Amino acid sequence: MVSRSQGYAAREFSKQGLKPGELAIISKEAVAPYERPALSKAYLFPESPARLPGFHVCVGSGGERLLPEWYTEKGIELILNTEIVKADITTKSLTSAGGETFNYETLIIATGSTVIRLTDFGVQGADAKNIFYLREIEDADKLYEAIKAKKNGKAVIVGGGYIGLELSAVLKLNNVDVNMVYPEPWCMPRLFTSDIAHFYEGYYANKGVKIIKGTVATGFTANSDGEVKEVKLKDGRVLEADIVVVGVGARPLTTLFKGQVAEEKGGIKTDSFFKTSIPYVYAVGDVATFPLKLYGELRRVEHVDHSRKSAEQAVKAIKASEDGKTVEEYDYLPYFYSRAFDLSWQFYGDNVGESVLFGDNNPESPKVKFGAYWIKDGKVVGAFLEGGTPEENNAIAKIARVQPPAESLDQLAKEGLSFANKI
Ligand SMILES: Cc1cc2nc3c(=O)[nH]c(=O)nc-3n(C[C@H](O)[C@H](O)[C@H](O)COP(=O)(O)OP(=O)(O)OC[C@H]3O[C@@H](n4cnc5c(N)ncnc54)[C@H](O)[C@@H]3O)c2cc1C
Repeated sequence: MVSRSQGYAAREFSKQGLKPGELAIISKEAVAPYERPALSKAYLFPESPARLPGFHVCVGSGGERLLPEWYTEKGIELILNTEIVKADITTKSLTSAGGETFNYETLIIATGSTVIRLTDFGVQGADAKNIFYLREIEDADKLYEAIKAKKNGKAVIVGGGYIGLELSAVLKLNNVDVNMVYPEPWCMPRLFTSDIAHFYEGYYANKGVKIIKGTVATGFTANSDGEVKEVKLKDGRVLEADIVVVGVGARPLTTLFKGQVAEEKGGIKTDSFFKTSIPYVYAVGDVATFPLKLYGELRRVEHVDHSRKSAEQAVKAIKASEDGKTVEEYDYLPYFYSRAFDLSWQFYGDNVGESVLFGDNNPESPKVKFGAYWIKDGKVVGAFLEGGTPEENNAIAKIARVQPPAESLDQLAKEGLSFANKI
């Protein structure tokens, strides 16, 4: 099993009954599975930053914290600092960069994603020092060191998605001067409507984050030490920078298995039990393209809630099939969240069809609470909420699951959260 956040899988195996020596986790990272979302949030806080062992899985979902000793006690082998460079599905073997071979009976592929780099597109100067990407704890350590070394320096954040928004906030908290650059007309366009983005862009501007839209970074200049000094934009502007953080997307790590398992929509195709086209080979988390039952189509989801739940589902299915049984099909309700500054939003369901805003999205408002619904074919299929209480977040989750009919967009806008509370 190649894995990271699949400490969740390990916990489920342990719950279902596991003999010592039956499970191994192989990871190229140096540490036991941890909650990756912490890296762009509390890990970079100026005061009391989160550090391991504080955020090993499964604390992110309110579960037990699995310290390295837990794996030892359970007889689970944690094989760290080990990168798999070759997988052979026919001989059921994995080969590491160090030349070791591992044989398996059942394999769970949980290789996750890797960042898209500006060097992939040949952006001039993109290999300068202090241009950072964020995926693994090692990346976060390097960025943390640079923030400390360039005290009160200048940063340019390239990209206005999850990483861009969370990193701009946390750098600002570190008293860094922040410019955020992205080509789209508003931030997080894959999820946010312009009305939602209006709030965040205004809020960030009030915090002193400068947002430059409608252009991209086309090159970097470095000083004689090779450290980045300037970011050149397509529109001709040049921004000073001591630190650059690039968050322009990720791609699933499927290369090890290319040509060996069926693929679909850029990921490894699975059934509702995360079984691939090959017996005894499962794929979970970011790499899996699975049947999203609620919408009757195959999807890939790059979010932590799905990585946890898909890992648990795969393990339940593996254990059940050993006993000649089956488990219920995966019936996932998409759930994404983010936190930055004092803000916290949640989204459930599908952001398709028409959308309507409710509440007050004025970034100057003293108390922040607003949201949006998405309506398709007369039904509410998605819901977003900033600043919700746990009960309110549960209410919008229920809406996205139940998909109640909506009479009109105006009515939804007027009723806002009370519409969700009625369901
Ligand atoms: C900085 C950051 C913040 C995030 N914040 C949020 C958030 O707030 N909300 C949210 O919903 N989602 C968030 N996500 C997304 C979420 O973390 C991912 O969807 C989730 O981690 C996917 O889990 P996974 O197990 O599929 O893969 P990963 O967590 O990526 O784990 C894959 C592991 O496999 C290892 N690996 C890969 N290839 C090999 C190989 N060949 N040999 C050995 N080991 C290998 C990797 O090193 C890694 O340890 C965030 C992601 C990042 C990077």
